[in-house]
Amino acid sequence: MKVHRYQPGSIHLIRADAGDDLVGFITRYAADNGIKAAWFTYLGAVQFASLRYYDQISREYRDFTIDQRLEILSGVGNVSLLHGEPFVHTHAVLADADGHAFGGHVNTGSIVWALEIRLEEFSGDPPARLFDEPTGLSLWGDDGPEA
Ligand code: ZN
Repeated sequence: MKVHRYQPGSIHLIRADAGDDLVGFITRYAADNGIKAAWFTYLGAVQFASLRYYDQISREYRDFTIDQRLEILSGVGNVSLLHGEPFVHTHAVLADADGHAFGGHVNTGSIVWALEIRLEEFSGDPPARLFDEPTGLSLWGDDGPEA
């Protein structure tokens, strides 16, 4: 178990523009505003979705795309440090015109149609992602600067 305790910081309400890359926009916003630790939620719509699924057995990501205009029913994510830089990790549930849902880890290449984000910044030493042998993923490591 890894525990990080933080004090709440600013809450940012952010709107992205049509055509923005969803992950790229949030990553750039965090970097431009010095945000190293945050949790966020969002809703809106995408013009194109690029998602991935992590296969726990093969320990590899399976990337897939959905070339449709989809509602973002619920998006959630966090900001922490990876190799010393703000890193965005986000998952979302998306729906088509019939209400059928898709979801996954949101990859770069998901293109915004409309996007409203509520991002809560935390103060204190940000969690740093380190390689985690049991999962094969970069997960939050111990407190303090990244090794
Ligand atoms: Zn993920």
